[in-house]
Amino acid sequence: MKALVYYGAGQQQWEDRPEPKLSAQTDAIVRIENTTICGTDLHIMKGNVPTVASGRILGHEGVGMIEEIGSGVTEHKVGDRVLISCITSCGKCAMCKRGTYGHCAYGGWILGNTIDGCQAEYVRIPHADGSLYQVPANADQESYVMLSDILPTGLEVGVLEGNVKPGCTLAIVGAGPVGLAALMTAQFYSPSRIFMIDLDDNRLQVSASLGATDIINNRDGNAAAEVMSRTKGVGVDVVIEAIGTPSGWDVCENIVAAGGNIAILGVHGKSVTLHLEHMWKRNFTMTAGLVHTSTIPMLMAAVQAGRLQPRKLISHHLGLSEMRHAYDVFGHAASHHALKVLMTNDISISGHKDRAA
Ligand code: ZN
Ligand code: ZN
Repeated sequence: MKALVYYGAGQQQWEDRPEPKLSAQTDAIVRIENTTICGTDLHIMKGNVPTVASGRILGHEGVGMIEEIGSGVTEHKVGDRVLISCITSCGKCAMCKRGTYGHCAYGGWILGNTIDGCQAEYVRIPHADGSLYQVPANADQESYVMLSDILPTGLEVGVLEGNVKPGCTLAIVGAGPVGLAALMTAQFYSPSRIFMIDLDDNRLQVSASLGATDIINNRDGNAAAEVMSRTKGVGVDVVIEAIGTPSGWDVCENIVAAGGNIAILGVHGKSVTLHLEHMWKRNFTMTAGLVHTSTIPMLMAAVQAGRLQPRKLISHHLGLSEMRHAYDVFGHAASHHALKVLMTNDISISGHKDRAA
């Protein structure tokens, strides 16, 4: 099969790899139908995620069809169309019992990290019962790909950890796909004002169309001063950090209101400076962490009911065979006006051996 393989910072190949095989009774093999590239994959390609070894197939988002299934899987069967969670969950360990699947002792974020991932024709999903979700027959399948990671991450790590409440003020630093996912899901909770801060005018325009009340381009480095001016020196109740850079962090700590929350969901590869000499007296809280994807069922219901339109986050449609081009488009998002790049498996399965044989 074809797969996108990481070979160290800045190096990747679209190459032939052996198809994955079942290795435990709780595994499933999924033929990828749709997948995408995450901002996290770009962080990996920059060498910012040291757990990813050379030779790893990347990708942790997708929808596909179950091709082969272990005898211990009870909730899914061959031929089922499933959404792949970016988080693998055994459902049995202490962390899973708490609902913190991101820290599952036998899973967590492993796909496209410590085991081979979804940017391939086939992927092996461990603990398939806890890690796959049935896609309804009438569902908008491409929209569902946005539920593998970015929508649960925006909602859980941003909106819920940040404690967005009716009438509060909110700022989202970073208008990439996860920042936009936070923007969309924050509106379940009716904040009165939503500032969106980025360097990309296209993404800021998209933010305005998705419900941001204030868009600020930080190209001059004045975003924090602008937010403070527009809030009469008070700052905002909730800041969602969705960029993963020291300069993005600096904006966050400079605009959080006294008593406010900073919810960090960016992937950070470098240290940031927390200015406790200013912040010690601000009564603020700060949260950071992995998504658990425990909100996937709720988000699926919201999509099915038409209350959430993840399709708005898809800017480009490409074939799976155009993987390298897709990385080029997503990696140079500003010049391509790119949000999420949705890839559809266009590789013939006619030559594929019968797995039942
Ligand atoms: Zn991701
Ligand atoms: Zn577990």
